Amino acid sequence: REINTRGKTLPKESGFKELKIELFLSERDSEHSVHKLLQGKFIALKANIATKTNVVPTTAASKALANYNSPFHSTVSSLLLQHGASLLPNANMDEFGMGSHTQFSPLLGPLSSPFSRNGKTLSPGGSSGGSALWVANELCWAAIGTDTGGSVRLPGAYCGIVGFKPSYGRISRWGVVQYANSLDTVGILAKEVGRAREVLETLDREDWRDMTCLGTNLRSRIQGASRRRDGRKSLRIGVPLEYNIAELSPSIKATYLRTLAALRASGHTLHPITLPTTRLALSAYYILAPAEASSNLAKYDGIRYGHRTSTSDASPNSDPPLPLYAQTRSEAFGPEVQRRILLGAYTLSSDAMDNYFLQAQRVRRMVQQDFDRIFDTQNPLLDPVAWAQDGEQEKVDVLLTPTAPTLPPTIEELEGQSPVESYMNDVFTVPASLAGLPAISVPVPLSAEERNGMDVKDVQTVGMQLIGQFGDDELVLDAAKTLE
Ligand code: GLN
Repeated sequence: REINTRGKTLPKESGFKELKIELFLSERDSEHSVHKLLQGKFIALKANIATKTNVVPTTAASKALANYNSPFHSTVSSLLLQHGASLLPNANMDEFGMGSHTQFSPLLGPLSSPFSRNGKTLSPGGSSGGSALWVANELCWAAIGTDTGGSVRLPGAYCGIVGFKPSYGRISRWGVVQYANSLDTVGILAKEVGRAREVLETLDREDWRDMTCLGTNLRSRIQGASRRRDGRKSLRIGVPLEYNIAELSPSIKATYLRTLAALRASGHTLHPITLPTTRLALSAYYILAPAEASSNLAKYDGIRYGHRTSTSDASPNSDPPLPLYAQTRSEAFGPEVQRRILLGAYTLSSDAMDNYFLQAQRVRRMVQQDFDRIFDTQNPLLDPVAWAQDGEQEKVDVLLTPTAPTLPPTIEELEGQSPVESYMNDVFTVPASLAGLPAISVPVPLSAEERNGMDVKDVQTVGMQLIGQFGDDELVLDAAKTLE
């Protein structure tokens, strides 16, 4: 293994205040060397992906992990190295993945987009904002992010690049700092769909160290289903009626309609479909994700794990040891993470559990059933006998929706937003997350009239999202290719 450092001065407009990481890792002649699909390619890694170096900690952008030098590589890092990639670790993010704009980064500092609107700085999206900026600024070949409720697709959409979230369990989460385990998915950011596909190829592996990573049987069932579809050129594209919400901005709506018309003109068919539980998905997500987070983050107590306060009257010997916990955790976590922990601890408490957590789990199941009703392929996770075709509903191959309801907000607008307003941003991305489905955001240019008179630095694309049945990742990538 060689470790190189190199200095690099970034253009001011790159969106980075300063380049904190000037190191990359690469592995030569590894004993596991397979064919070197990614030889010589630079891949940035989100700061929640454990990468073994003594130089760059794996921080998840949290003070809790500020000095955490991982003694091991995540499965993702090992596979990338084995395939010849050079890694750029610790890309900035929202702390532990909680956020949509990479503003909640207490350790590494907030980021802004390389694009602007009327001279105003825009949000790069989040939580994988750092990974997206590495790609958008062409400082790497592709980047790895994680997507729990949209964190790869949203920064993809806001930075004008591709953001792909595979089916839950296709890529191992071993060595990925947890936010909400049942939703966390490793995703890929790149300039082109083809690159996302190549990175997926290297990471799409069984891993006995992650119980939720798909096993051999499921993987072969999925392969069988996608082989049956081979050779069919025209796609049936579902247009979910519930995604036509009042908050949809006119530019997004216009681009959406134009994209649908272009797909029809190139021989695909459009089918209006309905996903009635969509409107409940966002609320369910913001119950389930914080609940899992509050439980996951309990380990950062300064005794077993993570940052410990240096305040002397908060010693572990004090009785009760509460001051140590309280002081440590108040210092370690930023305000958004604290908010999520409180929310999660509340919805899991015995008084609130039935009304919140259990209801949200029911909604999650209904969201999954909604999707299963409309996709032509059976969900490979379900028992074939229990799966009955619903004769009423038209079946589709993929869904097309916008990735976000609006163009990227300015940083100034974000400052005036309440937490709930900022959660609204995820309304189109969380349904696929709750159901574990593959989804991708592809940049589609704004209309010529809208681009007319725009500054070169203005955002000129809108993210369009394609969602497929569980395991249909290849189909989603094929469909995304038609939008490029
Ligand atoms: N914005 C969402 C949240 O804050 C999604 C984050 C993510 O996908 N990691 O939970």
